[in-house]
Amino acid sequence: MAGILFIISAPSGSGKSTLVSQLRTLVEGLDFSISYTTRAPRGSEEDGREYHFTTRAEFERMIAAGDFLEWAKVFGKDYYGTAVSALDHAKKADKDLLLDIDVQGAKQVMKKLPEAVSIFIMPPSPEILEMRLRHRTVAEEVASKAAVPEEVIQQRLAEARRELKQMKDYKYALVNDVLEQAVTELRAIVLCERGVRNGVQAIASSCRTDAASLKLKAAMNTFER
Ligand code: ADP
Ligand code: 5GP
Repeated sequence: MAGILFIISAPSGSGKSTLVSQLRTLVEGLDFSISYTTRAPRGSEEDGREYHFTTRAEFERMIAAGDFLEWAKVFGKDYYGTAVSALDHAKKADKDLLLDIDVQGAKQVMKKLPEAVSIFIMPPSPEILEMRLRHRTVAEEVASKAAVPEEVIQQRLAEARRELKQMKDYKYALVNDVLEQAVTELRAIVLCERGVRNGVQAIASSCRTDAASLKLKAAMNTFER
């Protein structure tokens, strides 16, 4: 693809959705890949907005047809996958693409597209992660009018500890402690990678006074004659 592929992963409840939605209001030219999933919509989620909600049979048909760049069974239960067409769409629109995917999916994309930029979002501590998970769960329960079982929270916390072990495979990692700071860091990573790709960083470095270029030295010399 012409643009940059950004992979963002984080344990559930770390604040990834919050960060990504703020990032998208601050940075232009970022397409967000809408994944396919077999899980049921939660709360106010709409088909085609947060996810393409689909059946297990349809998802398995898409796997067999090679429609996915990556896919995984998340929490050992539901399927989630990124359609190859999301890349084509971003490429045609000349945009960078953001994938919000779990560590299993990220591993597949890193292997297929090593030039992808991977970012891991860390919760500040297990206690804060649990607090955020419980806080979000209350919101989910209000929206869906059903209690989220305690075992689901415990499963998400246990999964978080497993996912954290994969952080070293990512190019970047940031701690989502103070939201504004984490958003600033995420934005900086995107802008910096854009700068590297289009050569802006290299060009700026070549103009630094502490690494004076031959051209600069030659120009200085002409004034010392
Ligand atoms: P994820 O998408 O990673 O599962 P969410 O974005 O849904 O997580 O965030 C989980 C909860 O934590 C939400 O209630 C959100 O408002 C809250 N949250 C996210 N980031 C922060 C932060 N930096 N400080 C405090 N609360 C946060
Ligand atoms: P949720 O059900 O809370 O929206 O998402 C659960 C997990 O699935 C999150 O870690 C999220 O990043 C991951 N996920 C969402 N879409 C995809 C996808 O297309 N592929 C993979 N591998 N994981 C995904």
